[in-house]
This record gives sequence, structure tokens and C-alpha cells, in this order.
Amino acid sequence: VMSKTKSSESVKVVVRCRPLNRKEESNGPAGGIVQMDLRLGQVILRNPRASASEPQKTFTFDAVYDANSKQRDLYDESVRPLIDSVLAGFNGTIFAYGQTGTGKTYTMQGAWLDPEKRGVIPNAFDHIFTHISRSQSDKQYLVRASYLEIYLEEVRDLLDPNHGNARALELRENPESGVYVRDLTSCVCKSIKEIEEVMNVGNQARAVGATDMNEHSSRSHALFLITVECSQPGPDGRKHIRVGRLNLVDLAGSERQAKTGVQGERLKEAAKINLSLSALGNVISALADGRSSHTVMVATLGPAPQHYDETLTTLRYANRAK
Ligand code: ADP
Ligand code: MG
Repeated sequence: VMSKTKSSESVKVVVRCRPLNRKEESNGPAGGIVQMDLRLGQVILRNPRASASEPQKTFTFDAVYDANSKQRDLYDESVRPLIDSVLAGFNGTIFAYGQTGTGKTYTMQGAWLDPEKRGVIPNAFDHIFTHISRSQSDKQYLVRASYLEIYLEEVRDLLDPNHGNARALELRENPESGVYVRDLTSCVCKSIKEIEEVMNVGNQARAVGATDMNEHSSRSHALFLITVECSQPGPDGRKHIRVGRLNLVDLAGSERQAKTGVQGERLKEAAKINLSLSALGNVISALADGRSSHTVMVATLGPAPQHYDETLTTLRYANRAK
């Protein structure tokens, strides 16, 4: 999904494991198979098969967040610096990657109404608008937001009132500004309230037409894009403008591309989702291209023994992204 060919690009990979849920707890006393060493940034994955030749595997990341981790901790340690760099005019991308049901949406959005459970996106909104309200008065900010999803290779505008009927959007390339999504709606947001409203409108559009929202979100990528423009008079009296772009991405469930053994229509769809994941990689690296870009990938895990194979796949993928 991402490359770090240029020295001006940085990729940070962090891993988060959600708590066992009630159903998993009731499955028996075996407990979780994921252990973490917070100090060393290590994940120790136990192989639940008694016959396993290697009883456990250890991986090391930039940071790890266990079942007791707080939304705030993840934000302050792993996301805040990236948002600061966007406010300083750089490009930044945050991905959540993992099997369906492991906490991608919890990490990116969380529960909006509970201050303890607000995820990366509401915390980023807070951060951006607090920064703007405290800035020097000669600085003028313009914040714009777009919200799109990629579903079976098609890019859909979640802020288009005709979302349901609208044609899929096209990707275009401009020699000066790079890759962009043609005709994508962009909303100017003057406050936290306004940008939250934009998010709500898009979330509702995502849910419309989806008979099963969980199923839909496991197959589609959601991208919330924020542009922060700051203009300030320079010593020469002329206006200087700097632009930072932030991509907040809740990916389709990783199991969709990893699963083998699907047939017929399902296979075609799996191939398309696979393709759209690589297309997405191109879009995002293009969107994030610029003088310098920072990426944080949050790989999410579940602790249950029955998901050992998926969990190992996610850890290997995250390990390669470092
Ligand atoms: P995904 O988006 O990866 O499919 P969700 O974010 O919907 O997964 O999470 C699945 C369930 O687990 C939800 O009920 C969510 O509230 C819960 N959950 C996920 N991560 C955590 C966490 N870190 N702490 C507590 N509950 C969590
Ligand atoms: Mg989700």
C-alpha cells in the first residue's frame, strides 16, 4: 500500500489490539493470543495449535496499544505529531488496516458522544480548530473537507446529495498538482461543528443503500480528506500560502484480499477489492505526494484464538510496511 522511496517520506506503524468481546470470552478459558510489551513496542502472538512447532512469534513496531489503551494515548503519542505537521503545511495520511471487527472504525471514529471514546478523527478536528483559534491574527486559515468511498473500484462522493444515483467519479492527473478526484465535493468548514456535520452527512450517505452496514464497510474504503490552507503576509508584504493535506482512511476489511478459496462471483469481487486496494495505494500515495509526507498506519488486531491466521497475516503486512 505504501512505499518509502523518498527520504522525505516517513511511515510509522503502530499496532492496536482490542479487548476480547463477550462472545469470545464465553468461548472458553483460553483467553487471548495477543500479548504486548508496551515499553519495547512488541507484539507476542501465541499459536493456539498445540502441535505448533513455533509456539509464539514476536514483532516489533513504532508503538503498540493493548486492550487497556485509551483513545487519547494513541492520539497524543502517534497521531498528534502528524496533525502538527499538516498544520505546518505538510501532507499526512492515517490508515486503519485490519480484519473486520478488530477496531478500525473504533480507532478512526470511536463513539463521538463519549469524550473518552472519541477516536482519531474527532480528536483531529479538535486539534485543528483549537490550533486555528489560538494562532496569530495575521494568519488566515481555510479548512476544506471531502469525503469519499471506494467500493468495487468505483470512487463515490459521499457529500454529493445525489450520492445514491451519482456516477462514479474519475481520477485525473494534473501535471502541477498531481492526482485528484474529478468533481469531488469540497466543503469549507469554519468550526468543529461544521466539519462534524460534514462527517455526519457522509456517514449517513455511506449507510444509505447498504442493507448491512457492517458488510458494506468490510468491503469499502472510506477516505475523509482535509485541506488546511494558511495565508500570512510575508516580510515582502505579499501573501504567502501554505497548504497541508490530511487523509484519514478507514480501509475495507483486510480479510477480503487475503482469503483464498472463494469462488465464482465472490472470487470476482475479492479480486476487485484486491485491485481497489492497490488502486487505493496509488491514490493515497499520490494524494500524499509533495515536498514531504508522513504516514501513520494503525494495524488493528483481535485477541481471539480462532482468528490466529488473520492476525498473523495482519502482523506480517504491518511488519512489511515499516
Ligand atoms: P472494524 O471497523 O475493524 O470492523 P469496529 O471498529 O467496528 O471494527 O469494532 C468492532 C467492535 O469492537 C465494536 O463493537 C467496537 O466498539 C469494539 N471495539 C473495537 N476496538 C475496541 C477497543 N480498543 N476498545 C473497546 N472496544 C473496541
Ligand atoms: Mg469498520
